Amino acid sequence: MRNVLKSYLEHLCGEEFVHEDKPLAELTNFRIGGPAKFFVRVQNKANLIRLVSALTFVEEDFFVIGGGFNILASDDGFDGVVINLDFAEILDNGTFIYADAGAKMDDVLEFAKERALSGLEWAIGLPGTVGGAVFMNAGAYGGEIKDVVVCVDVLTEGQVVNMDATKLKFSYRTSIFQKKKDWIILGAYFYLKNGKICEIVKKQEELFAKRLTSQPYHDASAGSTFRRPRPDFYVGTAIKELGLQGTSVGGAQVSTKHAGFIVNNGGATAADVEKLVRKIKRAVYTAYNERLQTEYVQLPSRRNKQSVQSDCPQNTGEELDL
Ligand SMILES: Cc1cc2nc3c(=O)[nH]c(=O)nc-3n(C[C@H](O)[C@H](O)[C@H](O)COP(=O)(O)OP(=O)(O)OC[C@H]3O[C@@H](n4cnc5c(N)ncnc54)[C@H](O)[C@@H]3O)c2cc1C
Repeated sequence: MRNVLKSYLEHLCGEEFVHEDKPLAELTNFRIGGPAKFFVRVQNKANLIRLVSALTFVEEDFFVIGGGFNILASDDGFDGVVINLDFAEILDNGTFIYADAGAKMDDVLEFAKERALSGLEWAIGLPGTVGGAVFMNAGAYGGEIKDVVVCVDVLTEGQVVNMDATKLKFSYRTSIFQKKKDWIILGAYFYLKNGKICEIVKKQEELFAKRLTSQPYHDASAGSTFRRPRPDFYVGTAIKELGLQGTSVGGAQVSTKHAGFIVNNGGATAADVEKLVRKIKRAVYTAYNERLQTEYVQLPSRRNKQSVQSDCPQNTGEELDL
């Protein structure tokens, strides 16, 4: 079966775009994770539609990865096909911008800035792709994806459907996509306002400098480890107050630069991160009676019906494993 699948993937996507036993540590910014049975870079939407329908037909597990900046992958790897959308067109139509899901947010910002379109400045330095940002309803410095995205093209049950943002259940670091494991974001439409390039640049420079000073931006991590349990509870501050900043388990450490981040100092395993996460959760629960949920997406070795995008505990609020 494995060889048949490999031949099919190579036939559809091109041999150079199919990798067998690809270490997930190479695909994620945490630099953690065992091998994915296959990793495929899909070059266009037509091939993606064919691929997904074939994988669904043969009941082969698959997982869509963007930039891998918000993923903790299993040490056992992934027994299925990891798909990367390797198409990244960005188009403009007045104050609207369309961007393929595979486009980097950085490139969307650059594109908007060149056209003096304002509204995305908050996302300067946001690592990852349009697909990942929409999935997470990414946000920073008072802005969120939901403020600028008006609709999204989605692949669902073999059809491409344009969905209005009001139907996508955007909320703090969440969207409907986290409950719909078979929906694939193909692209998003951003509505921006006319602005002045010099003001956009000024704002971006200011916010990017803030990021670089406050975050372990260039370290191996998945960004903020935890969601805020309520708007006025700052997890990083709580971790610091509890004296946990700098605490390590194996190669995983609470960042000494920002206690809200766990970094891989080299050789960390997913098990190390999970152990450290549990330790923090327990301490925060004991001290503040707050139950923390992780913000990153866990990629288990097998996505069964109860896992990852559909029902991952961090997305359902059911994570109580203190
Ligand atoms: C240093 C650092 C700073 C960060 N700062 C911020 C911040 O300020 N604000 C913030 O919100 N986040 C932040 N993050 C987290 C991360 O950058 C965001 O969550 C980002 O949106 C993830 O995008 P990605 O392309 O890397 O997605 P990935 O990590 O690859 O994937 C995340 C999830 O999205 C799903 N996904 C990706 N593409 C698609 C698609 N096309 N269709 C369906 N599902 C898809 C994946 O399956 C996965 O479940 C930071 C991370 C780091 C490392």
